[in-house]
Amino acid sequence: MSTRRRSWAEPFKIKVVEPLALTTRAQREKAIENAHYNTFLLRSEEVYIDLLTDSGTSAMSDYQWAGMMLGDEAYAGSKNFYNLENNIRKYYGYPYTVPTHQGRGAEHLLAKIMIRPGDFIPGNMYFTTTRAHQELAGGTFRDVIIDEAHDPANLHPFKGNIDIGKLEALVKEVGADHIPYINVQACVNMAGGQPISLSNLKEVRKVCDSHGIKIILDATRAMENAWFIKMGEPGHKDRSCAAILKDMCDLTDGCTMSGKKDLLVNIGGFLALRDKHLYELACQQVVLYEGLHTYGGMAGRDMEAMSRGIEEAIQDDHLRARIGQVHYLGNKLIQEGIPIVQPIGGHAVYLDAKRFLPHIQQSDFPAQALTVALFLESGVRAMERGIVSAGRDPATGDHRYPNLELVRLTIPRRVYTQAHMDVVSESVAACYEEREWVGGLKMTYEPETLRFFQAHFEPIGTWASAKNRQENAALAGSSEGMQLD
Ligand SMILES: *Cc1c(COP(=O)(O)O)cnc(C)c1O
Repeated sequence: MSTRRRSWAEPFKIKVVEPLALTTRAQREKAIENAHYNTFLLRSEEVYIDLLTDSGTSAMSDYQWAGMMLGDEAYAGSKNFYNLENNIRKYYGYPYTVPTHQGRGAEHLLAKIMIRPGDFIPGNMYFTTTRAHQELAGGTFRDVIIDEAHDPANLHPFKGNIDIGKLEALVKEVGADHIPYINVQACVNMAGGQPISLSNLKEVRKVCDSHGIKIILDATRAMENAWFIKMGEPGHKDRSCAAILKDMCDLTDGCTMSGKKDLLVNIGGFLALRDKHLYELACQQVVLYEGLHTYGGMAGRDMEAMSRGIEEAIQDDHLRARIGQVHYLGNKLIQEGIPIVQPIGGHAVYLDAKRFLPHIQQSDFPAQALTVALFLESGVRAMERGIVSAGRDPATGDHRYPNLELVRLTIPRRVYTQAHMDVVSESVAACYEEREWVGGLKMTYEPETLRFFQAHFEPIGTWASAKNRQENAALAGSSEGMQLD
């Protein structure tokens, strides 16, 4: 048998296309200024390749679109809800499902029913909306991820793992009575999309059982995590991702889910639980904040699309191509000598802004500045995951200074081609070559919570040689400057 390498090529072909806008450098300068140097405030039409997020940006299949026509829009008891509930039972194994409009809706309900003021919620690194809801409910988040996760160059294959020692120390410090649950995230977003291993999850279960602490899985990217377990954890190579996902869920008491990630839909999420009493409490809350417990803020057609998305997203062939594309981009950047977080994660490639722009101090928002530079260079939109995202410490009011100062190039599922990934890689390399040009930013407007979404910035001084660059204005994505080889 030939040992020749086989590609990760997509297990689908393209049926519908959406044209992209090509812009000039001058247009992009205007656009980013109007957006107050925050890529969240750009208009989508101003963007060429949109790597802001993989959330709700996936392409649906013909099977999902067909399901949209079968929407049962009854206020109560929609058949699409029962399809969804059945598929969650079948693939995740949780008996009780409460649909929500998206992941944070589920996080909100969970915080309401499980957290009392003064509680502590350990987790494998924070996620923005997750921590915000814990804090709104009067809880305090504690990071119990392994130290390796905070080092962007450490090659540990499961950097999402929980440090059992840190977890035990927290139990000792505050008492198990004040820890309602541990939030275990699959493919830890803020760490670079880093997976947790099944053996680590088993150890966490043991510790939690001995203290009567529940485990809630943030299952947003649990299917992608299952792929990493299959490829990297001994004993799982010949198992399906579906079987591995089930194992992960079996070790937990419930999950919050943003269907906008793994599940290939544009909107939707759910809270799923094993405990009937907790489920009843969640049903009481969902009618206040989302809608009746059989739709929870979603249209019937959207529940159908998400239910069908579960069936497609768990396929090994899908996950191979999805993660294969992310790794294709990451490996290209490594070949270019660009500093990125390694190992490459499941949903995004993270540029290490501290090493990319060492001349900008962290309080001048280097990762935010890099998103601006990349957009100016090529019309590629990325997202800051550093000091802006980390927000302020509620106790001291100071910025939190995370070790990781990153720019996330997030790959939507089934949307862009290999040629798009080539353009992205070339754009990042061009920014890297001329990185001295990029300067810092100052924040001119700061919302109180989740500030990264809506904050305003201004460049500090005139970014060096900005004028030169203007004279070089080239069309992003046009044939100008493109090599046909
Ligand atoms: C996106 C995300 C959420 C929140 O989900 P939304 O659907 O955006 O509300 C929660 N946890 C993780 C890890 C996420 O990536």
